[in-house]
Amino acid sequence: MEKSLLETLSPTAVWTYFNQICQIPHTSGHEQNIGQFLLDTAEKLGLEATRNESGNVHIIKPASSGMENRPSVLLQAHMDMVGVKDTEKEFDFQKECVTPLITDDGFVTADGTTLGADNGIGMAIILAILNDASLRHPRIKALFTVSEETNMKGAVALTAEDIDCDTAINIDSEDIGEICIGCAGGSSYNIVYEPDIKAVPDTGFRALEIRMSNGLGGHSGIDIHKKRLNGGGAVLSLISSLRDEGFKVCISDFKAGTVRNSIPSEASAVLCIPEHLIGKSINSLQDMINRLQTKFSETDSNASFEVTRLDTLPTFMLTDEATDDVLKLKALNTKVTEYLDDGVTPLTSCNMGVARLENNRFHFELLARYATTEGKAGIEKKINDIVASGRAKITHYDCYTFWQPDFDSRLLKLASEEYRKLTGLDSVTTVIHAGLECGLFKTLNPKLDVISIGPDIYGAHSTKERVRISSVDTCYRWIQHILESI
Ligand SMILES: [Zn+2]
Repeated sequence: MEKSLLETLSPTAVWTYFNQICQIPHTSGHEQNIGQFLLDTAEKLGLEATRNESGNVHIIKPASSGMENRPSVLLQAHMDMVGVKDTEKEFDFQKECVTPLITDDGFVTADGTTLGADNGIGMAIILAILNDASLRHPRIKALFTVSEETNMKGAVALTAEDIDCDTAINIDSEDIGEICIGCAGGSSYNIVYEPDIKAVPDTGFRALEIRMSNGLGGHSGIDIHKKRLNGGGAVLSLISSLRDEGFKVCISDFKAGTVRNSIPSEASAVLCIPEHLIGKSINSLQDMINRLQTKFSETDSNASFEVTRLDTLPTFMLTDEATDDVLKLKALNTKVTEYLDDGVTPLTSCNMGVARLENNRFHFELLARYATTEGKAGIEKKINDIVASGRAKITHYDCYTFWQPDFDSRLLKLASEEYRKLTGLDSVTTVIHAGLECGLFKTLNPKLDVISIGPDIYGAHSTKERVRISSVDTCYRWIQHILESI
């Protein structure tokens, strides 16, 4: 790997802006300086720019002469990035800047941190378009939103006036040649169950630990249908099967997952069991684990389980009834409940991202996704029913809307024609089972014709994040061509 000389890459304007963006810390909630950079850049270009209360930045570029009557275009990217670093790396995302590196195989990546190509490349492409004096284009409104990665705060704060355009191109997709025209909505839930607990008797009881590790985990939407083990769901199922076989184990500790938008790849539970049953229960557990691993051998083959007798007894355990309640709540991990007609693309799903026993409270964090109003109603009813059956309480609820695909979109047709002319290849139209800000634009301006595109970005939100250099060039030229012929 060579140290970055991003400006030597093509298109120069895009990579120069991206290099400048890399030098400004800009994780979610800390977009003050990157916003100022966008305002300063607009000023240098002589363009009208504003930053509103939410922190979103708007820049207007009037149409080239003769293009005033063409449909106006909103070009949009988000300002924030996800800050993830290698465990051993010392790095402060609020103070330090990422170091981009050019790899021998044609990518730009970062040294031990996320790169922020998601969505820094989107911002850089838009700035390069605004800077391009030779381009013939309609009226352009550039929109840079804050905090997309956490709660879409910027997009949520938008008004109809902010997106008063005929068409919109969101540059936050991660596969060159794909044109995304729809996305899922999402509902976040925090659920709390306060169990009855009792002291573990000093004699006659033993404790055992079940631990799952090395699961694939993954994105709670994009990967939800890939038949991967959800750590929390898997370990709760094992406990449930044990109780079904008559081993009255009670939960004493439970940990799975840290964030709702990721499938937990590991989990652990401590169980208390009458001493005379411990040997048999471990044997049964081993059989159940073998069956589970066979079932997932094709789709999550590295997931491993360990069952250990513990030397020390915990002080407390859940009562029988409370353990039953928690096991009912495992149904909250519904995974995919409904598919599109193709039988592959998920329509409705729910990921149990967090399930933890802390300070004598069981705490769940869910992310439910849906692509239709009926899907939303269905999954929400299901979650409410399960919560009620397990005598738990919903303590937080938040949602954002889905984006219904329009397969007759004029912009889609134009973008796919221009892609074919540019590359000789056919584009692919997609609808994704994850959230994009475009869903919110459509609610404010239902007539807006929207697509989402972007260069090839792999491993976003991880230290493996990398962007394919050639795809940035293709993406930039693709957008130029769309603007010229719109
Ligand atoms: Zn993004």
